[in-house]
Amino acid sequence: MPRAKEPRCSYCGRGAGEVEALIPSPDQKSYICTDCVNAIHDMILNYHDENSHKTQVKGKKLKDVPKPAAIKAFLDQYVIGQDEAKKYLSVAVYNHYKRLLQPETDDVDIEKSNIILVGPTGTGKTLLAKTIAKLLDVPFTIVDATVLTQAGYVGEDIESLLTRLLQAADYDVDRAQRGIVFIDEIDKIARKGDNPSITRDVSGEGVQQGLLKLLEGSIVNVPPQGGRKHPEQRMSPVDTNNILFICGGAFDGIEQKIAHRLNTHVVGFSTDSKRRRIKSDDFMRYVAPQDLKSFGLIPEIIGRLPILTHLEPLDREALRKVLTEPKNAITRQYIKLFEMDGISLTFDDDALDFIVDKAIEYKLGARGLRSIVESIMVDAMYELPTQNVKSFTVTKEYASGKLESGHFEAASV
Ligand code: ADP
Repeated sequence: MPRAKEPRCSYCGRGAGEVEALIPSPDQKSYICTDCVNAIHDMILNYHDENSHKTQVKGKKLKDVPKPAAIKAFLDQYVIGQDEAKKYLSVAVYNHYKRLLQPETDDVDIEKSNIILVGPTGTGKTLLAKTIAKLLDVPFTIVDATVLTQAGYVGEDIESLLTRLLQAADYDVDRAQRGIVFIDEIDKIARKGDNPSITRDVSGEGVQQGLLKLLEGSIVNVPPQGGRKHPEQRMSPVDTNNILFICGGAFDGIEQKIAHRLNTHVVGFSTDSKRRRIKSDDFMRYVAPQDLKSFGLIPEIIGRLPILTHLEPLDREALRKVLTEPKNAITRQYIKLFEMDGISLTFDDDALDFIVDKAIEYKLGARGLRSIVESIMVDAMYELPTQNVKSFTVTKEYASGKLESGHFEAASV
C-alpha cells in the first residue's frame, strides 16, 4: 500500500505522528491538524480586527454625518467671520465623508478635493482646522511646512507628516488612511526664484515635489516612530489616496500678483502705504490658481489643491468679537480662571476697545490679543487669589496702566 494513504493534514501535510491530533472531515476524506486549526483561528481574528474600522465608517450612514450647514454652524461657535472659508471647508469635509462611504463597486469615483486656504497670518486658518478636528471622528494632524525638508537635509522628511497622522490614529493604519492633515505655512516652500519677497527657503521645490507624491495619492512607507532616530523600525505602508489635505498660508505679497494679473493700476501704492493695504485686502478675494503659481508653487501642487479659498483680514469689529464671542474667547477664559478662585471678573466695554486698539496699533491682529490681555491680567492673577476679593473689574484705566508698566513688547509676539 502506498504510504500516501496515511491520514495527513490537508493544510500542512504533516502526518498523525507529527501533530497533536488530526481532525477528519465529515466524509473522512481529508484532515486538519490542531496547529492549523489554531493558525486559521488567529487569521480570522486578525481579519476582523483589521476590518472593524472599515465597517465602522461603512456602517455609518450619510444621515449620521453632519451636513455642511451644521459643520458651518459648529465653526461659527469658535471662529469669527470667514464665512466663505467656512463654507468651502464644510462642503469639503462633508464630501470627504461621502467618499469614505462610497461603495467600492460604485462606477463613479468621487475624487478627493484637497483645500488651500490663503489669508494673512492670525486670521483663523489654524483655528478653523483645529475646530474642524474637534467635530470629526477621523484622525487629524497639523504640520508646519517649514520644518519639512527633502530627505537628506536637516529637518523632517516629508513622510513625517504621515507619522504624525499615524500617531493621531493610535497607529491604526486603516484609520490614518481616512484622516485629515493640515499643512500650515505652505507658502514658505514656494520656489525662491519666483518670489523675491520670501526670506526663507527650505529647499522649496524639492519639498513641493515630495509633497506632491502624498497629495496625488500613493503608497508611502512611513516610519511609525518618526524620522531618522530609529533606523531599525519597520515601515508601515500608508495609502494617501483617501487622506484629505488642507493647506494654509499667508502668501505675503500675493496681492501684487493678483493686481498684476487683473491688470489693475498699482500706481501710487508705493507712496501711500495705508491706501495700499486697504487695496491689497480687496485683491485677496480674487485669488486664483495662477497667482499661486506666480508666487512659486509648482503647477502640479496647485492642481492637487483644487479648492482655493481666502480668509479676510480681521477688522476692528471682528477683533472685538474675537475677544468676547467665541465659545472659548480669551476674556471667557480669564473669567473662568477667576471664577475658580470665587472671583467674579468683568471687563468694561472701553477696556475691551482699548485692547483692540492696542492690537491694531502694534499690528498684531488676533494673535496679539491674548498677549495683551495676559500682560494686563498678570498682576491681578498674582495678587487676587490671596486677597479676600469677590469681584474685580478691568477698566480702561487699569488696562492702560498695566500695559505701560508691564513693558509689553510688541516685538516679542
Ligand atoms: P493663522 O491664520 O495664522 O493660522 P490662527 O488660527 O493661528 O491664525 O490664529 C491665531 C489666534 O488668533 C487663534 O488662536 C485665535 O485665538 C485668534 N483668532 C484668529 N482668527 C480668529 C477668528 N476668525 N475668530 C476667532 N479667533 C481668531
